[in-house]
Amino acid sequence: MSRTGILYLVSGPSGSGKSTLCRRLAAEGEAEFSISCTTRAPRPGEEHGREYFFLSHEVFAARAGEGEFLEHATVHGNRYGTLRSEVLERLAAGTDVVMDIDVQGAAQVRACEDEAIRLALVDLFVMPPNEEELSKRLVGRGTDSDEVIALRMLNAIGEMRHWTEYRYRLLSATHEEDYQRFKALLVAERLRVSRLIPL
Ligand code: 5GP
Repeated sequence: MSRTGILYLVSGPSGSGKSTLCRRLAAEGEAEFSISCTTRAPRPGEEHGREYFFLSHEVFAARAGEGEFLEHATVHGNRYGTLRSEVLERLAAGTDVVMDIDVQGAAQVRACEDEAIRLALVDLFVMPPNEEELSKRLVGRGTDSDEVIALRMLNAIGEMRHWTEYRYRLLSATHEEDYQRFKALLVAERLRVSRLIPL
């Protein structure tokens, strides 16, 4: 028996810790990370083709026009999108894919009529324990200006209203506890009979 890949879709406000969870899952070889395209500028230490594919607005719009994106959205004033090529072949090959996308993108993936995506999808919302902790985490990252932090805080509060649209929710505690629960969900989903296909 072999199985089809899982599309592990993870959302949550900046500061919820979801990016760390996704990156660790990929680093441990449990799933492959879907590298998104974005029009935002790279942060110090970020590399084209590793964290994101950093595109100009023109190139992003052209690729969107060609239908290359499975979903795309404007988040915090920048465009972000998932390339179909990052996802579809891997799922067909039985590779699990983890993606870190916002609530608008998640709604588009959920509405996707592609049967392969529908069967593969496992969507999870990562929730910070409370607003105070969220604010502390956003400031603590030290990567963004006060203005950017304020915008992200505002967006985070708006984004958190969407958690009921997801099948699963992880209320953040410690890094290690979060990761163990995060991985456990993927491990459990691999056992679903509907994913098992005869060779
Ligand atoms: P950041 O700029 O902090 O890396 O990401 C900002 C937000 O954009 C995060 O909420 C992240 O989940 C979201 N995001 C990253 N990649 C994508 C994508 O491909 N599509 C969508 N819709 N959102 C994304």
